[in-house]
Amino acid sequence: MHKPNTLHDPGVQQRLAALLRSTANDLKRPDGAADADLGLPAGTFARLVTGKTAVTWEVLTAAAAAWPVNTRDLLPLHDDTDRDVRICRRADSLASSRTIARAGRPYYEYQDTAMSRLASYRPEWIRMLCTVDDNDAHNSAVQWNNGHLLYQLTYTVGPVNYYYQWNGRSYCVPMDTGDSVFGLPFSPHSFTSRAVGRSAYILALTYGGDLAGDPQRELAVLGGDAAQTLAFDAAEHGQAALFSTFMRARMLTPVELARHAGISPSRLDALLAGKVTAVESELHQLANTLRVNVRELLPVICDAVGGGVVMQRAAMARRWYLGPAATPAYEIVQLAGDRLHPHTTAVELRPQLGKPAAQAWLSTYQHQYVYVLGDHPTQMMWESGCLHQTTLQQGDSVYVKPLVPVAFIGGGGLLVLRIGGAVRPDVRFALGNMAKDGPTRYAEDTQLWYVPERND
Ligand code: FE
Repeated sequence: MHKPNTLHDPGVQQRLAALLRSTANDLKRPDGAADADLGLPAGTFARLVTGKTAVTWEVLTAAAAAWPVNTRDLLPLHDDTDRDVRICRRADSLASSRTIARAGRPYYEYQDTAMSRLASYRPEWIRMLCTVDDNDAHNSAVQWNNGHLLYQLTYTVGPVNYYYQWNGRSYCVPMDTGDSVFGLPFSPHSFTSRAVGRSAYILALTYGGDLAGDPQRELAVLGGDAAQTLAFDAAEHGQAALFSTFMRARMLTPVELARHAGISPSRLDALLAGKVTAVESELHQLANTLRVNVRELLPVICDAVGGGVVMQRAAMARRWYLGPAATPAYEIVQLAGDRLHPHTTAVELRPQLGKPAAQAWLSTYQHQYVYVLGDHPTQMMWESGCLHQTTLQQGDSVYVKPLVPVAFIGGGGLLVLRIGGAVRPDVRFALGNMAKDGPTRYAEDTQLWYVPERND
């Protein structure tokens, strides 16, 4: 189903060369010095970074041994998309079907849906094989997991019971088609069916988001105690924790911070203790003194903080139309979400048009996952060099790269989950504040950071 993960892929070779050049530039190693460091014959490094010689594992191993970098720092992403999308047909999902037993009895049938190496989605179609006749969270037939790292947006089809634990208490929530729930990491949960003979399944759209990749690897080195220390408790004193952490980072004492910010020491003490909340003028005074933007001093609110989940009933969901009032392209139904994840968008998307139209085109900075819920064929069009089109059937799923224009025509409901990638607003502001051509060079620089022949 997936192309093999290999260094021989031409795109991978191009990005390997750029990463090698970028790493050598960071370490201020011209080509000759890099050859010497890596034990390569003179002239080899120049050929590697210009793509004339293939980068091999031996080169990467030598670079990771000679330089203060990890092997993974030298490894690029593998683009496994075909013309910027990955389409997983229902038959592909069926081929991945596996039954997972709990307590010796079949409990779930899992099927993979569209995934890409470019995004942290791990979306599964899961059928409930255990049927219960009550809504008791302590029903002995319910088999709990231990919770998992990935965030989970669950979309329900049929009579599904959702079970979750939070702060030592167990809950059972009877759900039905269109209901959705967003859950926090490591909260134990389970699902059962309430009716024999009726289809009961979920789309368990798990994703790592901010938590996947580098933060986890850094904390794996710093340790579990460090992870606990660094965890901001959103429920209480979030603002005070931010003031304190920046104050210490800047090597300021409360007395000095108060003096430079023009705030009375007693007022600052109260702010640092979380006894009072800063008014807007104080936020600006403190932000200026700490040399940060005000947004750095605003705590992040988590909607799921009370119970670990955010539930969205289909009947209560916000609905709206997208496109001109007279001929909207889509009806949109909002699914569960949380302010903790501002870059996540979960909706049911219902195409309203029967033929291609300009207002149907969608484009976003986010990665996109689409699962076809409706049983009528949907035409998907997308732009990748030129226009492409395919027919999606119920059970098909798709991954779409960021910024790729896509349109859906006809058919029934589509489940759409958009998630942010690594290019967050901080990075986008950094790109926007680079010198001219900086963003392009950042993505694909293969040049030495200076021109050796020039004397200026
Ligand atoms: Fe799960």
